[in-house]
Amino acid sequence: MNAGLSVSGLQHVGRLRGEITLSHLLTRSLQEEHRRTIQSLVLYTQDEWKGKEGQIGQFTKEDGTKYVGRRLIDVPDPMGCHGNWVDHYWQEFGGVLDRFAPGIRIVTTTETYRNPEMQALVRDLASRAEEVRTLVNHYRARHPYPPGWIPFEAFCEQCKTIGAKTTAIEGMTASYRCERCGHVGTSSIEKGKLNWRLEWPALWKVYRVDIEPFGKDHATPGGSRDSCKEIAESIMHFRAPMGIPYEWVGISDRGKDLGDMGSSDFLGFSPVQWVEVADPEVLRYIYAYNPIFRRIVLDLYRVDSYYDVYDRAEDLFYADEREGDEEEQARSFELAQLSPLPKEKPFALSYRHAAFLSQISPEKDRVAWCIKRLRDTGILDRTPTEIDRARIARRLAQSQSWVENYATENRVKLLDELAPEVSSQLEARDRDALRTFAARVASVRWTEEAIKESMVSLTKGGSLPVDTNRFFRDLYLVLLGSERGPRAAPFLAVLEKEWVLRRLKDAAQ
Ligand SMILES: [Zn+2]
Ligand SMILES: [Zn+2]
Repeated sequence: MNAGLSVSGLQHVGRLRGEITLSHLLTRSLQEEHRRTIQSLVLYTQDEWKGKEGQIGQFTKEDGTKYVGRRLIDVPDPMGCHGNWVDHYWQEFGGVLDRFAPGIRIVTTTETYRNPEMQALVRDLASRAEEVRTLVNHYRARHPYPPGWIPFEAFCEQCKTIGAKTTAIEGMTASYRCERCGHVGTSSIEKGKLNWRLEWPALWKVYRVDIEPFGKDHATPGGSRDSCKEIAESIMHFRAPMGIPYEWVGISDRGKDLGDMGSSDFLGFSPVQWVEVADPEVLRYIYAYNPIFRRIVLDLYRVDSYYDVYDRAEDLFYADEREGDEEEQARSFELAQLSPLPKEKPFALSYRHAAFLSQISPEKDRVAWCIKRLRDTGILDRTPTEIDRARIARRLAQSQSWVENYATENRVKLLDELAPEVSSQLEARDRDALRTFAARVASVRWTEEAIKESMVSLTKGGSLPVDTNRFFRDLYLVLLGSERGPRAAPFLAVLEKEWVLRRLKDAAQ
């Protein structure tokens, strides 16, 4: 099982879809059937740095255009904290990759060209250059390669770029003529690369690839993958791997679709950013559940709803009965897991509740404090297990980071006491409304659903002396000291009922 990534820039989470999650799920299934399978990933580090606008934009201290044409590994780290471009941009992806799919064998194309088997292939293809050219030109009707073309891009020792025109290959040496600087010379084939149409099948061959997911852009009939398949079969004489094309992942910002995530456009967000706000399994669930031909759009603003969906799937997994699509949700949940599932369903603290708890709790002994609050409010109705505790702690930290970085309207700070400047903003009808609400919720079980129901029945039933907006304004005012706040029911549910009732009564006086 193999997949490839070019480290051309932002290594976004879209690349966790086919190359990582899908591959991992298939590898694990095959291993469970006792087939010897490994998951590998090829990083295209020998590729040319094109100097696209987004890439140039990464250089703020110097002009990056002078690096255009270099291999990706030969471009410096614009931030100066790593050895080169590849190391820097790989960090945000490779640094946490094990948490999304453990045990992937990672190789770079730079390493591959040091492999004697790859070098032998390069020599073999160069020795049959005319045969290769004839076939490749079937796919290049408009711009055929001229006679004498050798499918190898040499490294230019003078201007340090890749892509010099190869004139001959002998042993380990490529002779070239560089079209960028005019230099005529020789360089090691380790420093160059095959033309991409030959490189792709060569990688299949060297790494014995049987199955390979790839982005849908390669999948068009007569497109790049078809050409590579034909080259594998008719020139290199082996069977091309089974390919699995998959749809891209888009990025949106508060619901606004910004297009597909793009590495060299630096559009999207990284796996490191994801794990700051959510467990890897939550994203794996999204990838496992959605058909691979369906576009997925991710939005960090909506992490709370991704958790809702995930928690719902967990409920279904542990449920005795399921119907229709619920079976797929439960199965996808199971596939998304990276560690064995506990026999009993662990406690799932709603991410939204966690977001509020993390803000209203003291920093010291936060987890213990929150667990006590969850017990007091009845949200947690048993002594938590170690698994429960760890999960509560994680969600508190993740949701706190989420509010700060992506969903600041969920910021809350409770008003310690009812200040006169707040009371003075309440008219008689506002006080009436708060009193009515207090009387209604006094008798209900203090849960998000029951609180929400009470609110809906009051606002929809017309039994409040103020309109709905004014009612929420009053509520936020007496609890937070501001006219706006987060969604009220989940917020109220994590507060102490007695405290809320006392505040409402105080305000109503
Ligand atoms: Zn760096
Ligand atoms: Zn040159």
